Amino acid sequence: MSNSAYDAVVVGSGPNGLAAAVALQQAGLSVLLLEGKKELGGGLRTAELTLPGFRHDICSAIHPLAAASPFFQTLPLAQYGLQYLTPAVAAAHPFDDGTAAAVMTSLTDTARTLGPDADAYQQLLGPLVARWPSIAADVLAPLHIPRHPLNMARFGLPALLPATLLARRFTGEKAKGLLAGMAAHAIQPLSNLTTSAIGLVLLIAAHRGGWPLPQGGSQAIADALVAHFVALGGQIETGTFVRSLTQLPPARAVLLDVTPAQLLQIAGHSLSSIYQWQLRRYRYGMGVYKIDWALAEPIPFSAPECAQAGTVHLGNTLAEIDASERAAAQGQHQAKPFVLLAQQSLFDATRAPAGRHTAWAYCHVPNGSRQDMTAAIEGQVERFAPGFRERILARHTFDTAQMEEHNPNYVGGDINGGLLDISQLFTRPALRASPYRTSLRGLYLCSSATPPGGGVHGMCGYYAARRALRDVFRLPAPPLHLEG
Ligand SMILES: Cc1cc2nc3c(=O)[nH]c(=O)nc-3n(C[C@H](O)[C@H](O)[C@H](O)COP(=O)(O)OP(=O)(O)OC[C@H]3O[C@@H](n4cnc5c(N)ncnc54)[C@H](O)[C@@H]3O)c2cc1C
Repeated sequence: MSNSAYDAVVVGSGPNGLAAAVALQQAGLSVLLLEGKKELGGGLRTAELTLPGFRHDICSAIHPLAAASPFFQTLPLAQYGLQYLTPAVAAAHPFDDGTAAAVMTSLTDTARTLGPDADAYQQLLGPLVARWPSIAADVLAPLHIPRHPLNMARFGLPALLPATLLARRFTGEKAKGLLAGMAAHAIQPLSNLTTSAIGLVLLIAAHRGGWPLPQGGSQAIADALVAHFVALGGQIETGTFVRSLTQLPPARAVLLDVTPAQLLQIAGHSLSSIYQWQLRRYRYGMGVYKIDWALAEPIPFSAPECAQAGTVHLGNTLAEIDASERAAAQGQHQAKPFVLLAQQSLFDATRAPAGRHTAWAYCHVPNGSRQDMTAAIEGQVERFAPGFRERILARHTFDTAQMEEHNPNYVGGDINGGLLDISQLFTRPALRASPYRTSLRGLYLCSSATPPGGGVHGMCGYYAARRALRDVFRLPAPPLHLEG
């Protein structure tokens, strides 16, 4: 590893590490980015996991949060080849009767797929979609006095509710099931407070700009961020796994794209005992079991809306999805788990050889689970797409331990860097004046274990860099793209 002195060192090249590195470099500092793995990108890597020519997103796949990120939007990422492709249907939610709810940019078209709840859906989402630019600035940030309190209250009141309670606004199974599938992205029981928040943010994002995916795979987002960082003068070393702060070259600020468990290993003895105690109390959520398929043909879903959807939620009714998420949170494995599925190759020909296809899916499982969920996941796909199994050419699976091996930030298979429940949503990883500062001067946390949490948006990295720029260098952070 380099022994030169830097203004700042960033450890970890996930979207948040990259965002932090870019923001620091933009401020004119000398920045070294260190990555433990050979490849850059963390949760943004794409690889031929199954057969030659089939390119699979190993972790993240669908990117409404990246495309709408107030920081990423300020960067010239298109110049470095990043191009988003937006499916006509952001997400489809098929039911056992062969029909599907479908979320499209148009609220009216979406509402039409929800039968008796068409009006209730528009009344709930319409005002939030219209006011989202001013709400987003407050939601995608650490806890603070809202810039737009009235709009924030309009969002916050339904968002605070458990999804099971918000779903009572609807009478039919379609709208209830659709909301449950969206809220299940919170990776916790749907009876938990704030599960509606995640569901509403995803629905609003779908109505504002769709749920895009990057041409060539999620790796394209990482590649563009890396190219921009290097063009600004940033330096990178890969294959350097950091076990102790003593490994790092001299620097005035160090930002770690890791979660509290790793922070304790890397810097534990240098941290105050109260902060160490807070970090030890940090809770991780459920894990995931993930499958990637190489397919001979597209998935033959019964509901036609699914063929136009980048994402398909397989869980039927609210009752089934609720039971699935509750069971996994309680340490059980479901025979019919809620499955999140993406079919990138329908929209991006670069993902598979001509005429062939890829698909990506996962379900939630207990943290640390080693159970093989292949049959259960494939059973759910077959349930809504009879004939699916016959189209499988090859598959690749990850259980929670393999997921953590791929990326040490996925502790026990938790892909959000820690449980996103009400107690850890805004104050992760600990209740402090700034969640990004650790108790050691000059050492910052910049991963999804800080606000606003999981997902590819880079805002944790941006806000951590902003904190370090103010504290250590007395410099302003690059401005955000805020419409509100
Ligand atoms: C299966 C799956 C599906 C997902 N789907 C989506 C999706 O569709 N859309 C979405 O927005 N998000 C999705 N996510 C979540 C998203 O990938 C994460 O929230 C995001 O990547 C977190 O970014 P991060 O920068 O905080 O950390 P990460 O992306 O986890 O990156 C951390 C980096 O730090 C490195 N590192 C860790 N410890 C060390 C060390 N000690 N020394 C050196 N390097 C180290 C790691 O190798 C890694 O490169 C998904 C995740 C998974 C696993």
